[in-house]
Amino acid sequence: MKYNQIIDISIPLSESTIVYPGNPKIEIEEIKSEASKSIISKITSGSHNGTHIDAPRHGIKNGKSITDLPLGTFIGPCRVIDCTTDSESVLRQTLELQTIQQGERILLKTANSLRGYKEFYPDFVYLSPKGAQYLAKLEVALVGIDYLSIKQKGSQDNRPHTLLLKKNIPIIEGIDLSQVAEGNYILVALPLKYVGMDGAPARVVLLN
Ligand SMILES: [Zn+2]
Repeated sequence: MKYNQIIDISIPLSESTIVYPGNPKIEIEEIKSEASKSIISKITSGSHNGTHIDAPRHGIKNGKSITDLPLGTFIGPCRVIDCTTDSESVLRQTLELQTIQQGERILLKTANSLRGYKEFYPDFVYLSPKGAQYLAKLEVALVGIDYLSIKQKGSQDNRPHTLLLKKNIPIIEGIDLSQVAEGNYILVALPLKYVGMDGAPARVVLLN
């Protein structure tokens, strides 16, 4: 595979990384092992902190876990779609203009990437239920979004999660697309191999 550039779209993980309200925070404790004289750390974190991947199990009872998903889904061509003009949610109409094909890996760049991850913004741009329905019907391979959740904060309507996850379409959340222009890339997004989990952190990069 030939490429010129690696664009890291993962957000940095530390104790000051913002987390979705109610999720366990990241805690890192450095431990000096007397026996080995080496440094190790104890890490505590929720499974949906930072840049991470949602498995079907996150929203669907008895759904597939992170380790049930084929790795091929997470490596390959992808398309970044500019949705920065959608101010509240990514609309179905915005997606319809893109002639998205079955099996495409789709990353949604919204106005969230322009504000960044310095503090938590409850009014983040999310994927509208109708937009999720459209992508689920098209059977895309995966969907990524540049905030910690794909659904509206405080909404009881969980369809942005469930419609995708029901079709075994994983969701990448918490990517930073501020330095990424609309277009085609190669995606590499490997979730850590936490057995049977609802989600897992991932280092996500784009190659071009
Ligand atoms: Zn999540």
